[in-house]
Amino acid sequence: MGRRRCLGEKIAFADADRSVTFAEFSQRVDSLVDSFHRLGLKPGDRIALLSRNSVAAMECIATAKAGFIVAPLNWRLAPSELIALLRDCAPNVLVCDVQWASVASAELLDHVAIRTRIVVGAAREGWLSFEDVVAMGRADEAHAEAKGDDTAFLIYTSGTTGTPKAAMISHRGVVANGVASAREAIGVTADDRVLCVMPLFHVGGLCYYLLPSFMAGATSILRPAFEVNDLVESLASQAVTNVHLVPTMISDLVAHPHASSAAGNLRRIVYAGSTMPVALLERVMKVFPSCAFSQSYGLTEGGIVTTLGPEEHRRAAGSETHAHLLQSCGRALSETDLRLVDANGENCKAGLPGEVLVRSGRIMKGYWNLPEKTAEIFSGDYLRTGDIGCLDADGYLYLVDRKNDMIVTGGENVFPSEVEQVLYRSPDVAEAAVFGIADARWIEKVVAAVVLRGGSDATPETLARFARQHLASYKCPKAIFIVRDLPRNGVGKISRKDLRQVFGEGDPKRSGRS
Ligand code: ATP
Repeated sequence: MGRRRCLGEKIAFADADRSVTFAEFSQRVDSLVDSFHRLGLKPGDRIALLSRNSVAAMECIATAKAGFIVAPLNWRLAPSELIALLRDCAPNVLVCDVQWASVASAELLDHVAIRTRIVVGAAREGWLSFEDVVAMGRADEAHAEAKGDDTAFLIYTSGTTGTPKAAMISHRGVVANGVASAREAIGVTADDRVLCVMPLFHVGGLCYYLLPSFMAGATSILRPAFEVNDLVESLASQAVTNVHLVPTMISDLVAHPHASSAAGNLRRIVYAGSTMPVALLERVMKVFPSCAFSQSYGLTEGGIVTTLGPEEHRRAAGSETHAHLLQSCGRALSETDLRLVDANGENCKAGLPGEVLVRSGRIMKGYWNLPEKTAEIFSGDYLRTGDIGCLDADGYLYLVDRKNDMIVTGGENVFPSEVEQVLYRSPDVAEAAVFGIADARWIEKVVAAVVLRGGSDATPETLARFARQHLASYKCPKAIFIVRDLPRNGVGKISRKDLRQVFGEGDPKRSGRS
């Protein structure tokens, strides 16, 4: 992320408290880089970040340009989980929002040795203030820049169970994802005002949306986190033209009474991160008729992989012949090789489902400190995504499910997303998640957790009857739990893993992708 002289006085990032122009951002990042050198940091040292979305967080993230490795941590994790992450990445500096600083002081820092603690937002004893640190450095001091293969970010893929795994994203990968995403997936240009409510500790918000928007010269509005009233308010008051959401956020958005009135300037809604129920997609396209839609499919380890663009959405909406396109996550971005392989690692015959393998300049270098896990996830120079999908003759990818989420019930394979798609077609269902739990007879049985739409008086029995009308009997949920809300991970995706733990006896599946 070099200097953006040509954009000069244009706002690059704005949060609720302050905004910075491209020129100021560049200068403040250079000062921060110099300060980190003065504090004794060397290229390759880690900077851990525990912060909601803010301009300060982006300034810290951008110091990666000088070879520091930035690890944005999931602030939703419990202290014991954060300790595991901090021990893993062993940062020399921890930068915290003021609200985390007290938690960090009390519960984290006795367990991990961190040389420098920096707090954003207020002074605290034992902590350097972020503004003082920026002021300490000189923007015109020359420091070497990172090389393409150097690691820019450590992005943790799973921190809730087992060993934390951090994907090492190189500078080359950051730039390749940024360019490809801006041009081919999110369609952002310097004319856009983008809204980021996705957390920066997940790759989607940071590498597939915010950094591409920055590289394209757009203005990025940062909200601390997702909250639906705040989203609707920000879309309207900030004249947002482009927004990036996961399907569960879209479900909250369309249920909001003022959703459509917020869309004055909105030109594009980008969705990503998990399967988009077709019924929900059709609903949001009706609520925002003048918006273009695009979908991205990607993963932390594999970069952004495919996109389904506005043209395909338009084509599918207008015609039964093309309606199936709404079930696809699109075609591979340029300079991307996709392969589908069967359980033996052999290429699948056309049209048959298999694990998606991807090769591109956007995949991770490997896992931090985990050479064996790295070796497992690569098959030659292809990355195994852990996702099962089918490719059609035109190159459209249809994701069936995660390999680990597939339910084997009485010897039959059931893909939860197929059952979810059916439940979403019921007018009573606001959200649905299907998962497998251990069962004496079926070994694993298909069950569902459902959030009803407001005013619905559906029961598990009426929902089961609906499912039976549309699904083979072995695919129908053997139990349906009506719940007030579904557990979500840090990015807002529904967590089937948590559901298995709540409704089953522990999680029969291994966690994570490996
Ligand atoms: P963790 O690895 O931490 O358990 P995760 O599985 O959500 O979390 P991410 O790398 O954040 O890991 O998400 C990538 C996964 O999300 C993909 O492998 C895929 O299963 C799913 N995904 C991403 N985009 C889409 C999409 N457009 N449609 C369907 N699924 C998607």
